[in-house]
Amino acid sequence: MAHITLNFHHYRHNLELLAAKCGDMKKLMVVLKNNAYGHGISHMAPLAAAVGVRYAAVKDCTEGLKIEGLFERVLVLSDLSSSSACASLAFAIHSLESLETLPSGTIIHLNIDTGMHRNGILPSALERAFEVVVGHNLVLEGVFTHFHSADMLGSDYFVQRSRFDEVKATARTLALRFGVPIPKFHASNSAGVLRHCGPFDDDLARVGIASYGYVDMPSTLGVFDLKPVLALWAKRMSTRTLHKGQKVGYGGIFEAPRTMVVSTYDVGYGDGLFRFDGTKEALLQEGQPLLGRVSMDSFTVEGEAEEVCVFSDATALACAANTITYEVLTRLSPWLSRLVIGRDE
Ligand SMILES: *Cc1c(COP(=O)(O)O)cnc(C)c1O
Repeated sequence: MAHITLNFHHYRHNLELLAAKCGDMKKLMVVLKNNAYGHGISHMAPLAAAVGVRYAAVKDCTEGLKIEGLFERVLVLSDLSSSSACASLAFAIHSLESLETLPSGTIIHLNIDTGMHRNGILPSALERAFEVVVGHNLVLEGVFTHFHSADMLGSDYFVQRSRFDEVKATARTLALRFGVPIPKFHASNSAGVLRHCGPFDDDLARVGIASYGYVDMPSTLGVFDLKPVLALWAKRMSTRTLHKGQKVGYGGIFEAPRTMVVSTYDVGYGDGLFRFDGTKEALLQEGQPLLGRVSMDSFTVEGEAEEVCVFSDATALACAANTITYEVLTRLSPWLSRLVIGRDE
């Protein structure tokens, strides 16, 4: 059957590389949102905890409740729940309006808009936010921002970085004035951590894609020894001989230029593989071109191997699909079976 392997050595290697940049494994907040970028949250969370990671971020409460016992804190990035079942989770707060609706005792991290303008509270509203925190008896555990261009050359990253440094100073002063503990500060995503030089003086860093083995930024910003964690494997369903001129798959897009032996494998767009339509070259990991259109549950390539690796590095398929590795990974169906390799030895 089609399946996914998750390489624990590679995951640990990537986390150690990121921890070295931040100075400590305890500073990493692993981003496990969207089913751990398609890897499988129930498989990845215990691996992160085993390496000594203490913080995790997830998309919603359902994900948070699956893994809360493994970490000191799990931050929910885009879901506000007032259910008491979620009381041990922390919530990212993206606007003053939502801050005002929270029940007393909610643990929060304030998202500050330093320039991405996707969401977040403006730096000028920080004092008002502290008033609400104290007035509504909320637990302010963190203050963070998000970089929109940490993976690009240019000054935007530095502008946001220096605005966040001002936010940190203001928040410290406000915390003292309002008599609440100084919150934990975090700003960097993977690219922000990797390009950082010198002492790392935030309390946490939210690392996603690099922990899974990828980073997509100009080599002038650095070249990093990251190792992809996930590989997707497909199993042979059948084999046949195509004679010259015979076509394969929907639309008959691929026509055999000669006699050739082809096999069909049990992964398709319903499992998260892109529906390559046969008009542009897309290669499997070992270089076999996909022949014709990808079906919902299968694809066809030349050869008759029992099993083929669809990818162990998502970069080439991302490029062929004109997208980023994040999308190739997060599309993978949660129903594919997953096997951790390299854990017990
Ligand atoms: C997804 C996400 C991250 C992780 O970004 P990477 O580029 O994958 O490291 C960090 N912070 C927030 C708020 C996110 O939504």
